[in-house]
Amino acid sequence: MTGCALVWFRRDLRCDDHAALAHAASRFARVYCAFVFDREILDRLLAHGRRADRRVEFILGCIDELDAALRARGGALIVRHGYARSEIPALAAELDVAAVFASRDYEPQAIARDAEVARRLAEAGRAFVEVKDQVIFERDEVRTQSGTSYSVFTPYANAWRGRLDAAAVAPLALAACPGRLAAPPLVAQRPDLRRLGFVPAEPSPAGPAPGMSGARTQLASFAGRIGHYAHTRDDLASAGGSGLSAHLRFGTISVRRCVRLALEHPGAGAQAWLTELIWREFFQMILWRHPRVVDHAFRSEMDAIVWEDDPAGFAAWCEGRTGYPLVDAAMRELRDCGTMPNRARMLVASFLVKDLGIDWRLGEARFAERLLDYDLAANNGNWQWAASTGCDA
Ligand code: FAD
Repeated sequence: MTGCALVWFRRDLRCDDHAALAHAASRFARVYCAFVFDREILDRLLAHGRRADRRVEFILGCIDELDAALRARGGALIVRHGYARSEIPALAAELDVAAVFASRDYEPQAIARDAEVARRLAEAGRAFVEVKDQVIFERDEVRTQSGTSYSVFTPYANAWRGRLDAAAVAPLALAACPGRLAAPPLVAQRPDLRRLGFVPAEPSPAGPAPGMSGARTQLASFAGRIGHYAHTRDDLASAGGSGLSAHLRFGTISVRRCVRLALEHPGAGAQAWLTELIWREFFQMILWRHPRVVDHAFRSEMDAIVWEDDPAGFAAWCEGRTGYPLVDAAMRELRDCGTMPNRARMLVASFLVKDLGIDWRLGEARFAERLLDYDLAANNGNWQWAASTGCDA
């Protein structure tokens, strides 16, 4: 085994059961690891006045833990602040690697960024290798019998379950390739919050702890409750869900581990939870297959809806001043903690669109700005579902 590779971490901030890391280590003698605080994303937050953003702090917590875990295995995390489109090809040249490995992303902007990185790397004679990591079945892997993609959830979920086998959820162990992780002689200190342009957010009592350890704790706690999930998930007064969404979003836990947990527990609770993990993949598939949903209704005839022009109503909804206690409590939780249970999300979304008659895109943007677990595919899919403009609505 010869040569060097670079693993570019993005929304997969862990080192166990990590597809890109396992693939790179099985093919190259030395593997470097890097993360880029992408200015294309951060500058957009700053331009919207989001100087205090819990997600940036959450990521910092995750990468510190990832760096420590990589160091314990002989590597280190190289952290850059800049434009990933140019930082990654430049780092690949600095380290003189033959290939850059990354987990595949299904969001339109990420796809465009990755295509540009691949092109720049190819110009320098380096490979860009994308691997499936954040879902069990990606893109068109789950298809109808006639070979088309699904747009209705239940038949998709049935076909998804039909394809599931032990190989699809097998852990991807780095342990099989010991000693492959490498660190350059000098790894610069990572930028801190202020150097990134941000300030600390108000501490949130409800927020999940970052990193792989945070995910492990959350998973262990949920394992003891999964049997009751089908009954407790809609109870707003108890933490009935797994609380893993931010960890799944930033990849501090692998989705394979989550599906294995569901399979280890027979019963309705675990089955109901598995269905939610399948919803996650369904919306990722929809976004990849129909990128126009980012700003258009999935059902294009619904783009003809004329929405209310009601800035005061929208402001009251955002700030939890509608006069409906349940809606207001949920919206204040979003504002103050960056979290909200699923049932409350469905309720406030329905209220904005069906009661106030306000465009779902405004609600979607408010959620995108505030949710710690914000994920374009899940947020867009669920908002369009609530607005009856989406697939399977
Ligand atoms: P659990 O109930 O434990 O579910 C397990 C995992 O399955 C979740 O962590 C999540 O990754 C996934 N999941 C659960 N429900 C859904 C769903 N309906 N659609 C897609 N994936 C799901 N989830 C996000 O992760 N990011 C978002 O930006 C997001 N925006 C939403 C907007 C609206 C209007 C609605 C109605 C739902 C949204 N959801 C979103 C889905 C869901 O509300 C959250 O995933 C869930 O509340 C997270 O809590 P949990 O981790 O305890 O979930």
